[in-house]
This record gives sequence, C-alpha cells and structure tokens, in this order.
Amino acid sequence: MSSKKNKHIKFKSALSVNDGIEQPPSVSNDVVNKFKKIKKKHFTVSDYVDGIKNKDRTILSKAITLIESNKKEHFKIAQNIIENCLPLSGNSIRIGVTGVPGVGKSTFIESFGKKLLQHGKTIAVLAVDPSSERSKGSILGDKTRMEELSLKDDVYVRPSPSSGTLGGVARKTRETIILCEAAGFDTIIIETVGVGQSETVVHSMVDFFLLLMLAGAGDELQGIKRGIMEMANMVVINKADGDNVENANKAKNEFERALHYFPLHDSGCLPKVLTCSSINNSGINEVCEKIQNYIKHSESNLFFDKNRNKQSIYWMYETINEKLKTNFYNNFSVNKEITLLEKLVLENKISSFVAANKLINKYFDFK
Ligand code: GDP
Repeated sequence: MSSKKNKHIKFKSALSVNDGIEQPPSVSNDVVNKFKKIKKKHFTVSDYVDGIKNKDRTILSKAITLIESNKKEHFKIAQNIIENCLPLSGNSIRIGVTGVPGVGKSTFIESFGKKLLQHGKTIAVLAVDPSSERSKGSILGDKTRMEELSLKDDVYVRPSPSSGTLGGVARKTRETIILCEAAGFDTIIIETVGVGQSETVVHSMVDFFLLLMLAGAGDELQGIKRGIMEMANMVVINKADGDNVENANKAKNEFERALHYFPLHDSGCLPKVLTCSSINNSGINEVCEKIQNYIKHSESNLFFDKNRNKQSIYWMYETINEKLKTNFYNNFSVNKEITLLEKLVLENKISSFVAANKLINKYFDFK
C-alpha cells in the first residue's frame, strides 16, 4: 500500500474498512444458484403439460394458480395448458360432498379418503367456497383441514380459489378437474358448503352428489333446502357415535321415508341413506361400496355418459353467459352510464326495463 493511501486511511480511520479474511457463505453457492434457477425458470406450455403428466405436484399447483389468476396473460397460457390436458382427462369419478358448516365434511373426507386409498385410489380434493366470494373469508379454508390425508403420497388437496364470482370459481374448478385428471388422479372429491348456490354448481360438475346431515334436527333447522335433497344421490347422517347412534338411526328412517316422495332421479336410482361416524371411521366402508354400486349401475344403463354430456353442454352455455356478463359490466360506455341510470330508476324517472335497454343498446353501440 502506498504511503499516500495509508495517510488517507489514517485520516478517515472511522470510516475505513480493514482487510479481513473471507467469510464462508452461510448457504452454499450451489444451493443458491439452484434455487435461483428454479425460481427464474420460465415454464413453457409443454413444461407444464409434461409436468402434469408426470404427476409433478409443484407444476400442477403452478398450473392451477394460472387458472385461478385473473391476469390476461395467465388466462391465455392456462387455456393452452387445459387444451393440451383435455385428451388425458375424463377418467376419474367425480364426487361432490356438501353439508352445512360443522356437519363434519372435512372429517368425513379425511376418513373416506383414507378408505379410498386402501382401495388403491388416487385422490384430488378441491373446494368450492361461496363465502370467500362475499366476505373474502372462507368457511372451508380457514382451518387446517384433512391434516393426515393431505400428507399422503396419492392425495392432492387444493383449497378454493379465494376470489371471483361463483360462476368464475365454478369455471376455475371445472378446469382444475381437467388438470387433476390429466395428472392421473382417479377420484376427484369436490367439497362445498350447503348454503347459497354453490351446491347447484358443484352438482352440475360431478357424477355423484353426497349430502352430509346430522341427526336430531329437521332439514329446515340444518339450513338444507329441498332442492339439495333432490340433487343428492346419497344422504349420510354423520356423527353416528356415542349417545347419538339411536338418533342417527331414527333420522335415517325419516330421510328414507321422505326421499320416497321426491321424484325419481334421471339415473333411475333411489338415493341411499346411510349413517356413519367420521371420527370412528364406522360406516365409511358402506359409503364406498354404495357409491361404487351406483357408478357401476349408472355406467351400465348409460346414464353416466349421458349425464357428463349434459354437463358439458350446460357448462358451454354457462361459460357464454358468464363471459358476456363480465364483458358487459366491464364495458366502458356501460360503466359510464350505469350509476346515473340506477339513480334515475330509484327516483322513478325511468323504468328498470328502459334503463336496462339503454345500457344494452350502449353495449351493442345501437343508436
Ligand atoms: P365441516 O365444517 O363440515 O368441515 O366440519 P368439520 O369436519 O370441521 O367438523 C366439525 C366438528 O365436528 C369437529 O369438531 C369434528 O371433530 C366434529 N366431527 C366431525 N365428524 C364427526 C363424527 O363423526 N362424530 C363426532 N362425534 N364428531 C365429529
């Protein structure tokens, strides 16, 4: 070091940095570089599709995140992935599980799922949660759910997309089913809360619809509407354990009697009523068996395929409706006028129909 430099250091000694020994990095450079590479890796559509085909959970999750995203560029790539996965989809049994909060849906799915694993099944659990749309809070996602099941190798648990309209969430769930099927899951369980419209939406995307109930309360008390009873292929009275066994059996008889008055399902099968205890795993075998029988029966009388075709057409129209609606409300001219027209309707200055027509004409740019 030159004497000039030494002087300089002496003068500013408080700010100087002395040469020291090189410190070893706290994380090895190899690990850091590898992490950077994974983080930075730009996945192409074929990376996603190959990953999904190879049952790579991380890639499957990333692809589902793209489906759930509201960004335009994500939508495009997600649609591309779905299109490529479509030929590999359709080979699962899709089961909907509904019931009011607290009836035991997650406990049931945990127990039911473990039983299915014993039968060699591979399971994806998805959720449709209408509460997250309204309040941004979630009935289905807040607690730690299906703790044991979600850790199993042959299980994939995905919570509900946390934003969007029910129609939007429904589309995203339908598309997620396609990816999960392409990833080889042979049983898709879709959980939803039996309040609001979500059960109708889930019913229209599954092969089997299971309604969980509790003993000792009339259906009004449980907030279950008649419509859900009509959709159910099976009613399971949960928590049939301890002192509750007798009540559960009584409720079973009552539901069986009540279901006789409902119109027969298009499948030609009368809904089964069973009891179970999800915490004791009792009655779960019978649930599995009866579902299997139903699927066999509906395959042999061709209802299974007919129902899936009907659902595909239904979703085609639903997608059109949803798209047109979103497009309408996002339209610049509509947006500009809508608040004023709403005000005029409230002040009785124009009728609702005239206001609606004015907006629709604006949208289609009629004069
Ligand atoms: P969810 O809101 O419908 O998903 O209901 P959970 O699965 O979270 O269950 C609600 C409560 O009921 C929890 O405290 C569970 O331990 C309890 N539970 C669930 N299934 C059973 C059952 O079969 N028997 C009894 N005794 N309790 C149960």
